[in-house]
Amino acid sequence: MTDATFGFHGQGRTEVTAPSELTSVDDYLDFILARVLRPAPIELSTAESLGLTLAEDIIAEDPVPSFANSAMDGYALVAGDVIAASGTDPIGLRVTGEVAAGAAELPVVRSGVAVRIMTGAPVPPGADAIVPVELTTEEEGVVWVHKHARVGDHIRPVGNDVQPGQRLLGAGRRLGPADIGLLAAVGAVRVLVHPSPRVVVMSTGDELVGLGVVPRPGQIRDANGPMLAALVRQAGGVPFLSGAVPDDRRAMMEAIDANLGHADLFVLTGGVSAGTRDHVRDVLAALGEVHPFKVAMKPGMPQVFGIVEGVPVLALPGNPVSAFVSFEVFVRPVLRHLQGRRDRGRPVVRAVLAGELRSPAHKRSYARVKLRREEKRWIATPTSGQGSHQLTGLVVADGLAEIPAHITQVDQGDPVLVHLLVDL
Ligand code: AMP
Ligand code: MG
Repeated sequence: MTDATFGFHGQGRTEVTAPSELTSVDDYLDFILARVLRPAPIELSTAESLGLTLAEDIIAEDPVPSFANSAMDGYALVAGDVIAASGTDPIGLRVTGEVAAGAAELPVVRSGVAVRIMTGAPVPPGADAIVPVELTTEEEGVVWVHKHARVGDHIRPVGNDVQPGQRLLGAGRRLGPADIGLLAAVGAVRVLVHPSPRVVVMSTGDELVGLGVVPRPGQIRDANGPMLAALVRQAGGVPFLSGAVPDDRRAMMEAIDANLGHADLFVLTGGVSAGTRDHVRDVLAALGEVHPFKVAMKPGMPQVFGIVEGVPVLALPGNPVSAFVSFEVFVRPVLRHLQGRRDRGRPVVRAVLAGELRSPAHKRSYARVKLRREEKRWIATPTSGQGSHQLTGLVVADGLAEIPAHITQVDQGDPVLVHLLVDL
């Protein structure tokens, strides 16, 4: 046996993988998640925290609004003065001033007078109602009120939105635009959040050339690197594309070593199966720890998990669709775990299959499907090109239909669970 063929030996079997060698998808994911530590939370400016997960509860200190203010442009007055006002019998009040939003000095309102008031302006002392300008006419310093008012009309009282001591947002909450608005409103200028994971994406393979390079005979373009970096970015991580690394132990070790300083996670593709050039296992074993698995799934059976100097490494198979599906099934939940999120995967819908799907015994399959809505049901149609090398079958897919490990065929009209490939 030469060095090049070491570890590459036929086994004279009738099936590539025996069921007893397989690890279930859920067991492998649990194995990884139990070994991936979340980085410490960081304090960040609230304006920079969109999409990040809170690592603290946000408790209000002060009420919002902090002063009673007008909900309308109109007149601040004493409700009792206009209790009998109507369209046919308007009541006139002398206008003694005006108060705009932001005003600090306020005129006093007493019975018999009114002041003009703008939306958001503090309600002047003495006034207990606002009459919208539309319900009045003003001439020669007198406002005629055409409709009766009640105490409190169109006044936003102190604490009407937020009460002191109120828990506004809880740890684990992913911050959306409205959360950022609320944080700004209560003066929370900095928040404790889980940082975006930095993910080094590294393609391995002698045959790969980078974007913009014309492949020589036998070479192909690195599709996985840009695709996985895009997935990482879409999932809220910060991707670093290391470029393609040849199937050479030394080159791989150096590439991993050179990227360790800025990685919370490594995502490798290629070189994880049984070929003579599949070195990822050896390289990870030399650098740290390695746990190779045959996961009961299709596509994406060979998976390798490693840890190098505390940084987790997920090595995925090289076929682009296998890499994509592996990202959805394993990398996305790991990213969400690192992000402090509690939801692991994308949303799922129950659909009815239009067409037929086969799945190997003992493996969970993820088929690429298009979805359409029909008579209040989702209809899932397998895309053409279901091979794990066929990106064209993936790009038109709306979701991944999951076929459980104990099922080998799904027929027309059968129910399927579809993981949506939408950006959430
Ligand atoms: P491997 O996992 O290294 O055995 O590769 C399996 C298949 O995926 C082979 O056909 C490779 O040429 C292909 N492949 C590996 N890496 C990439 C990549 N980064 N981009 C596109 N195809 C790849
Ligand atoms: Mg390879």
